[in-house]
Amino acid sequence: MSNTELPKTVDPYRLAAQSVIVDGELPVHKMRRFYESILGAAEQESCQVRLSFYMDDMRRRLVSGELKTSVTLQCQRCLTPMTAELASSFTLGLVTTDEQAQNLPRELEPFLTDEFSADLWTLVEDELLLVLPPFPLHDRSECPAREQLEAFEPGETEPEPEEQQRENPFSVLANLKKKH
Ligand SMILES: [Zn+2]
Repeated sequence: MSNTELPKTVDPYRLAAQSVIVDGELPVHKMRRFYESILGAAEQESCQVRLSFYMDDMRRRLVSGELKTSVTLQCQRCLTPMTAELASSFTLGLVTTDEQAQNLPRELEPFLTDEFSADLWTLVEDELLLVLPPFPLHDRSECPAREQLEAFEPGETEPEPEEQQRENPFSVLANLKKKH
């Protein structure tokens, strides 16, 4: 992926007709809504973006994207900052009207644009908001609140008891069946 800044707007139908790949970086702080939804990000942190515009066999115009970035979120268990790697990959159908959007096959989400101008920054921001975890948590072994937590949940410190619990209902059922 290149280190140049992702263009803010492109001509999406032309890019799809020519099968163009657009890649670049988008500084996290330039996505206002996203930036306000996170605790923060390293000053130079950018989202790595790769967008492929193309047409499929049905002559539909599509854009497939891959995004990757690293941000700081607040762990909802210990309320201290944690680093989260966010990644997204998606394929969207380019449309210019709601009617076109409704005609897309169910598996394709629409990307509503003007015929000659698509806002890539908003696209990236919307897709990042979708993969933002609603309830971020440190890995259990790294969470400073782990010890307090374990005092309340002694049974969950080892993985084995959990597995046994999961199997129990079935073995109970099996025993019942044998008896009847
Ligand atoms: Zn934590």
